[in-house]
Amino acid sequence: MSDTTELYQSLILDHSRSPRNHGAPAVVDRVADGRNPMCGDQLRVWVALDGDDRVSEVRFAGKGCAISQASASLMTVAVKGKTRDEAEAMFARFHDLVTGKPVGDGAKDALGKLVVFGGVSRFPARVKCASLGWHAMRAALNAKPAAAAPAVSTE
Ligand code: ZN
Repeated sequence: MSDTTELYQSLILDHSRSPRNHGAPAVVDRVADGRNPMCGDQLRVWVALDGDDRVSEVRFAGKGCAISQASASLMTVAVKGKTRDEAEAMFARFHDLVTGKPVGDGAKDALGKLVVFGGVSRFPARVKCASLGWHAMRAALNAKPAAAAPAVSTE
């Protein structure tokens, strides 16, 4: 087993057992749902932006496989405190990573430990699990404040 595989497995286990930023926020700003019917994953992501267009709060809840839960948990940690543009850029890098597109060293540095999800690109059915929380986060960013957004799909 390679170090990357071990790190991947321990991260997935850690975050699926103890998800970070989990559960509805006290005050809802923006919200979006994500569904991955192929696997049965369902996620809701809440995002709050402060006056500088910075992600002041990001939370998720839902059910699904360990990869979808762990990836959503890691997503919340990754985008919290980032500006909207930075969060969008991170989504784009993460999406390139899990879909097997070339990712440069600078992008890898920016992704940090999220690079362990690169192995997902070899399993097309799992790409949707790993990216579901990110799709929902982006939909929430683009949702109207304090208004429910239509469900998004990773299709
Ligand atoms: Zn899944």
